[in-house]
Amino acid sequence: MEVLRREQLSEHLVRLVLGGPGLAGFVSTGIPDEWVGLVIPQQFQSRYYTVRSFDGTELVLDVVVHDVGLVTEWARRTGPGEVVGEQVTVTEAKGSFAMPPGARWLLLVGDLTAMPAMARIAESVEVPTRIWAEVPAGASDELAGYLPAGPEVTWLEQPGDGQSALAEVVEGIEWPEGEGYFWMAGESAQMRAIRKHLMRERRLPSTAYDVMGYWRGVARRQPRAVDPGPVWRAGKAAGKNDEQIWADYDAQQDAAEGESPSSAQQEATP
Ligand SMILES: Cc1cc2nc3c(=O)[nH]c(=O)nc-3n(C[C@H](O)[C@H](O)[C@H](O)COP(=O)(O)OP(=O)(O)OC[C@H]3O[C@@H](n4cnc5c(N)ncnc54)[C@H](O)[C@@H]3O)c2cc1C
Repeated sequence: MEVLRREQLSEHLVRLVLGGPGLAGFVSTGIPDEWVGLVIPQQFQSRYYTVRSFDGTELVLDVVVHDVGLVTEWARRTGPGEVVGEQVTVTEAKGSFAMPPGARWLLLVGDLTAMPAMARIAESVEVPTRIWAEVPAGASDELAGYLPAGPEVTWLEQPGDGQSALAEVVEGIEWPEGEGYFWMAGESAQMRAIRKHLMRERRLPSTAYDVMGYWRGVARRQPRAVDPGPVWRAGKAAGKNDEQIWADYDAQQDAAEGESPSSAQQEATP
């Protein structure tokens, strides 16, 4: 696909509008948190981005420009060598948001990388929705219009660059009564902590939530402590379900890291 336009939505968020003949082969899943792999020119590695919108002629991705990174540095370019007009590769779309038909409410929690998905999800559901959005200091005003009107939004300040404190926030949420759905995405170590909380303290079935690690924090980053492959295979061989396998993986990660919430890999990597 071709980058048709680049718009600076806020200091930290850049909109890339993709189109051109390559768009003809794109098929949306219709799942509101759907994502694609984006491969920028002269690269072979991909990074995942949420499809903020797709109308058949334009595909919109909203990219967080953080400190350093392959896509972040490319997307930041303006002037000579700017991204408009460049050709990128976009992989097949996938999604995981699966709110049960009986859900009466929806809670969405995420950092800046989750804003595109939270906005699209909030636009697509009809149940009462609450949003907790963690954004860089001072960014909530310019981002206020990014989310659709309707849901009650709590803006949270990100503790620092490459950091997130969403796990603590979620542990303090007053859960609504009755059946609902919880969706959350952001920094991977935070997501791991929340999965544990939902399984162990709230004892939710895995159908009641979707928690995705979108990126890995830089603070105290170290090589992946536990390889998920063998844990997954051993769990499957033992007839365990996904929840139980995640719990095994989390326990081994904690043991390897001495309970430190660091080094999460992009575990939700599709
Ligand atoms: C399903 C899914 C959907 C996603 N949707 C979006 C989306 O719509 N918009 C979006 O911006 N991102 C989204 N992400 C997150 C995005 O894929 C990662 O942030 C990715 O690492 C960014 O690539 P990069 O090339 O800029 O940085 P990388 O080259 O991957 O990383 C470079 C360094 O930056 C750090 N880093 C990566 N991301 C961040 C960040 N956000 N803040 C601070 N430090 C960071 C890394 O730890 C690393 O040290 C999504 C991820 C997934 C799995």
